[in-house]
Amino acid sequence: MNFYLEQIEKFDESIKSANDIAIFTHVSPDGDTLGSSLAIFKVIQEYYKKNVTVFISDKIPKVYDFLPYINCYKRTDDLQYENKIFDLAIAVDIATIERMGKGFSLFAKSKFKINIDHHKSNTNYGDINIINPKASSASEVILDILDDLKIELTKDIATFIYVGILTDTGGFRYDNTSQKVLQKAAKLLDYGLSHSELCQKCFMTKEKKSLLLTANAILNAKFLLCDKIVYTAITLNDMKKYNAKNEHTDRIVETLRQIETCDVALLFKENLNQITKVSLRSKIFDVSNFASKFGGGGHKFAAGLTIQKPINIAMDLVLGELSKAMKND
Ligand code: 5GP
Ligand code: MN
Repeated sequence: MNFYLEQIEKFDESIKSANDIAIFTHVSPDGDTLGSSLAIFKVIQEYYKKNVTVFISDKIPKVYDFLPYINCYKRTDDLQYENKIFDLAIAVDIATIERMGKGFSLFAKSKFKINIDHHKSNTNYGDINIINPKASSASEVILDILDDLKIELTKDIATFIYVGILTDTGGFRYDNTSQKVLQKAAKLLDYGLSHSELCQKCFMTKEKKSLLLTANAILNAKFLLCDKIVYTAITLNDMKKYNAKNEHTDRIVETLRQIETCDVALLFKENLNQITKVSLRSKIFDVSNFASKFGGGGHKFAAGLTIQKPINIAMDLVLGELSKAMKND
């Protein structure tokens, strides 16, 4: 039996032999970590008929309120789970344990750990690691697993997986949109999903403050290297001015990348305690490789990093290194 099928068999056996199962998502949750976690949550509940808890470490973006069972998430800082030891922990869409946020201590003390992901930078931190960097999303990896195990989907499970694929491919526009994933997505529509309705909900509905914050960030954009680098910053003051939350900064960096001369777009976000979060998007340059120099990671054209420095210092540091790296590229 090949290695992949062995892992799938172990996945199936470890769920069957566990009584108490926990599922973990990444900080700043997106459509893929939500979609893949809810899909596996419902499969474990309805197919395996086991006790299962699905965890979140951050606020869920309001755009995903439409998803069935979105209210099932328990917070990883909920004191009722403080001393809990799960038989089995499953992490979805989490490249490194740092991306687990407060969920890490619960995950770490679980008796057995499964890591399901599609990031090439995944560090194989599980007892079983089902990682497919060719998959568009963790949701597609879950779909393949369910297919291999011949587990029938329901309309809800198909919706979760579709939303994960749809959001991680940017509405089937990024380079992770393979022919295979389009075929799989088309099959998911057989469960009675509406592609246009899900696009409307995931991409075409925004709060007023989200658009105003985006407009402000675009107006403040700066350019380097003959406009090949485009960057902007969002300070805590900006966030306060628009009464915005982290979720309202979503996709701003992708908007900047649209500029025709742009190869790399960056969004610097000031966080509390002199921490700066950087989102990077590119067209040619490998930003995942670049982000790893600062302990970050992600995908070739979409990556992120976190620096324990005030925003102005972080900007100088990252932009200086990036200019050098792109000149040498
Ligand atoms: P975003 O910019 O949307 O937050 O993240 C884009 C990609 O970069 C995601 O695939 C995510 O996994 C990765 N990423 C974002 N922030 C970080 C970070 O602080 N550390 C690491 N290792 N990866 C990150
Ligand atoms: Mn993903």
